[in-house]
Amino acid sequence: SSLFGSFPAAAEDAVFAVTRRFNECPLPGKVSCGVGAYRDSQGRPFVLPSVASARAALAALPAGGWTHEYQPIGGPPAFAEAAQGLAFGPLLAGLAPRLGSVQSLSGTGALHLAVSLYAKFSPVGKVLFSDPTWGNHEAMFEAAGLEASTYRYLDPATPTTPSLDFAGLKEDLLSAPEGALVLLQACAHNPTGVDPSPEQWREIAAVCEERKLVPLLDNAYQGFASGCVETDAFAVRLFAERKIPCFVACSFAKNMGLYGERVGVLHVVAEDGEARDNAVSQLKIVARTTYSNPPSFGGRIVEGVLGDAGRREQWEEDLRGMAGRIVQMRERLRDGLERETGSSWKHITDQIGMFSYTGLTKEQVKACEEKGVFMLASGRVSMAGLNDANVDATAKVMADAIK
Ligand code: PLP
Repeated sequence: SSLFGSFPAAAEDAVFAVTRRFNECPLPGKVSCGVGAYRDSQGRPFVLPSVASARAALAALPAGGWTHEYQPIGGPPAFAEAAQGLAFGPLLAGLAPRLGSVQSLSGTGALHLAVSLYAKFSPVGKVLFSDPTWGNHEAMFEAAGLEASTYRYLDPATPTTPSLDFAGLKEDLLSAPEGALVLLQACAHNPTGVDPSPEQWREIAAVCEERKLVPLLDNAYQGFASGCVETDAFAVRLFAERKIPCFVACSFAKNMGLYGERVGVLHVVAEDGEARDNAVSQLKIVARTTYSNPPSFGGRIVEGVLGDAGRREQWEEDLRGMAGRIVQMRERLRDGLERETGSSWKHITDQIGMFSYTGLTKEQVKACEEKGVFMLASGRVSMAGLNDANVDATAKVMADAIK
């Protein structure tokens, strides 16, 4: 038999499989709540006005003003500075001497850089992540050869109304081995939409400090969750302020709608300047040996939005618009479900960000799919797939599925 034929076939990615089944579904009025990509109130992909403006400014540059040269391995300094300002805000001046940043292939690439560096040099080689988490986290840890385990996240006593099991979370972090990497989602937890409160974040930071854990903050939704970049930066800035050495993996996929441009950044908050330089030098080795250097187009757009006062203001308005529409859909879905089922669906409006963890079982999800409403098997609904035209029908399909 052939070499390639001897490779075992891998399973299809669960999220992309839902999109494929949605595309194949012949039902009129089908609803796509699988993949986490924002859609406007007509269900169309959305180019943010701030991004369109930055793009137009690039296109208007004279010949030679915009070339296609290689970028530095870690990305251009102007991009790094803009991204640092967004993540750390007023802390930046104090942080700068021990802060390093490497442009990445979106949030996934930022996580890859951090995980690769940790796997290569940590003598501990262990990582903890929330149960549940974004499907790609565990796969990436496994690919890096790390010993992975979970910390508790959702309260098992209330499976149909998902909420945080903070006591369980804290207990598991307290018993984590010193030096272990801990994946923490900075805001808008995927897939649950359940975030710790500011007070709970302070306790988590204290435990990380006490147990000498290495936080990897996955910052994939800054500004997209609440509509305010400062509010959503709370956890990231808390760790930085407490001088806890950590990684911060940022994505511009959601908050600028730059999904396919693959633009993100990994920040390293180190103990001192020398530690920062060591870490960044090694991150560049990881980058050089995997993709060599980052693509330039997305980074230029981000610089154009963050670096121009007018566009930055427009962007914040764009964010409020997207977040506001999602909040509205949460209210509409909750109302619809309460009307159809007669029970409380408060968890839908308590949750935050792109996703809602509905509490539907696998079988109920399957029943929804048969009627053209597509979500993940875990019961995760991407709120962006809902709009005025389909939210009531979606509530009805969900309600029928749980009857
Ligand atoms: N982290 C979380 C929690 C996510 O939900 C996502 C995307 O869905 C990512 C990271 C990475 O996304 P991207 O690589 O498109 O920036």
